[in-house]
Amino acid sequence: MSLLKVQQLSKAFGGNQAVLDLGFEVEPGELVALIGPNGAGKSTVFNLLNGQLKPDRGSALLDGQSLTGQRPEAIWGMGVGRTFQIPETFASLTVLENVQMALLSHHRQHWNFWRSAAATYKDEAMALLQQLDLADLAPSACGALSYGDVKRVELAVALAHAPRLLLMDEPTAGMALKERHALMTLVQQQVRRTGLAVLFTEHSMDVVFGFADRVLVMARGQRIAEGSPTSIANNPEVRQVYLGVYPTPDGTPA
Ligand code: ADP
Ligand code: MG
Repeated sequence: MSLLKVQQLSKAFGGNQAVLDLGFEVEPGELVALIGPNGAGKSTVFNLLNGQLKPDRGSALLDGQSLTGQRPEAIWGMGVGRTFQIPETFASLTVLENVQMALLSHHRQHWNFWRSAAATYKDEAMALLQQLDLADLAPSACGALSYGDVKRVELAVALAHAPRLLLMDEPTAGMALKERHALMTLVQQQVRRTGLAVLFTEHSMDVVFGFADRVLVMARGQRIAEGSPTSIANNPEVRQVYLGVYPTPDGTPA
């Protein structure tokens, strides 16, 4: 059974059919890119999967359990993670403390200052930071980090919840090539190491072709192609929806 099975998922906003009869599956340990032109419906798919939106029809099953119709917190609790921006109020906390807080929340405990709060989940948090090349930054305040480092901390916080499926909507937006490759290398390592499944949207073709195991292409709410990065790069219909500006795998316009 697939980890995620989406069938006939549909959502309209007024007369605007954002997602129409969409079906796809994601297996454990897969890094899947969802691509398509602006307005294709990618973010709507994410919001249908994470419970922010309810579909007009169709279903999404995680390990056979229905995600559609559940509240965001319930979906989160079922093991569907997403990256969130570090809230303002947490910017003054250190990188280590942010990950400790996430681990506490995952284990449904609260800060208990009478019980040596500073040590709570410290080893687990440090282990996670090490996996994400963040150990050196453990004592730094999040508010003082570079953009690329913040993105890695956001990933660490998401992973602290031990998701089975991680949804990442434009994880590398605003990043330079080197930074986005560093982030996606870490994501890929987690996928390979833990069997985590990741569904991500991406505009940078160097990331799509460099990191995705499989690519799903949407246009006007529908799936128009699916396959390996190489087969997608050579797909005439995909090239057509990108109006001849579909970039080649090295990122230069075709
Ligand atoms: P993408 O992420 O691929 O750029 P979106 O899922 O954001 O596409 O949008 C798909 C379509 O749905 C677009 O036409 C967009 O304007 C519309 N849309 C998305 N969210 C809303 C909303 N909350 N209310 C109304 N229309 C929306
Ligand atoms: Mg979007």
